[in-house]
Amino acid sequence: MSNIHNPQSAFTLHNNYKIPCLGYGTWRADEQTAFASVKIAVEMGYRHIDTAAGYKNEAGVGQAVRESGVGRENVFITSKVFNDNRGYKTTLNAFEKTLSELKTDYLDLYLIHWPASAHRFDNWEQINLDTWRAMTELYKAGRIKAIGVSNFKPHHLRALMETEVKPMVNQIEYHPGQTQEETVSFCRENNILVEAWGPLGQGRMLSNPTLAETAAKYGKSTAQLCIKWCLQNGVLPLPKSVTESRIKENSEVFDFEISAEDMKRINEMPYIGGSGNDPDTVDF
Ligand code: NAD
Repeated sequence: MSNIHNPQSAFTLHNNYKIPCLGYGTWRADEQTAFASVKIAVEMGYRHIDTAAGYKNEAGVGQAVRESGVGRENVFITSKVFNDNRGYKTTLNAFEKTLSELKTDYLDLYLIHWPASAHRFDNWEQINLDTWRAMTELYKAGRIKAIGVSNFKPHHLRALMETEVKPMVNQIEYHPGQTQEETVSFCRENNILVEAWGPLGQGRMLSNPTLAETAAKYGKSTAQLCIKWCLQNGVLPLPKSVTESRIKENSEVFDFEISAEDMKRINEMPYIGGSGNDPDTVDF
């Protein structure tokens, strides 16, 4: 892991590609909102944007990156193939659609948004392997710099570990009280970088008294504490806000260090709420 002193510092993926250590989330921002807020974020110094075909805002994200003027090569863009496009040919087509929405000729990172799971598909492993084969081909052709998955638990990941190119990233729900230890350990053992979606518990963490008290000790907000806690655990946070002051606040996490004692206390917190979406039971 590289140092984490500014939002452009990077983690290094197992193929040596660098990924800026603080991402900017765009879920539930429509195209116009994504355009305006991503532009603000990039102008403020964020260099890593997380979008997905399923968010229906890729065009706004692409336009913001172009109009920010910092140069496509200086912004790390992630997108994801959604569940309705799992499979080989469908993934190849979905990728072309994503590039044309973003108006770019490559992606930095492409993820399988959710695994096909046993409760919906008898041949779930084969479906994930077919999707992965398409992503591998695009990666080997240089059209994607890194490939990975999202919401994969160890049993979903295991089915991909015998393939030619192993996943470089797993983006999972991760915040205090929801640390998915088994998945995180599996990823660490296999050199897969974990990214945190919902690092603020989609806002649910922000009213927790233990977190608020701990944050106050450092003169920081609860949001900043949650973001820094991810980083100190070696997990890449993707906080989302469309409000300029909060976008700024969420990037100001490189001027303090959470003590080992406080890290331990947060790491051991019980479940205090989350999305409730389990990849093995979701109905989408
Ligand atoms: P989050 O934990 O980032 O929380 C966002 C919420 O917190 C918003 O309602 C926002 O208004 C509020 N907030 C943000 N900063 C704040 C601050 N400083 N003070 C007070 N309130 C603040 O939740 P999220 O958006 O669900 O997750 C982050 C990103 O992760 C998404 O935008 C998306 O890019 C990604 N994501 C991926 C998946 C997946 O399945 N792969 C699922 C959900 C989200």
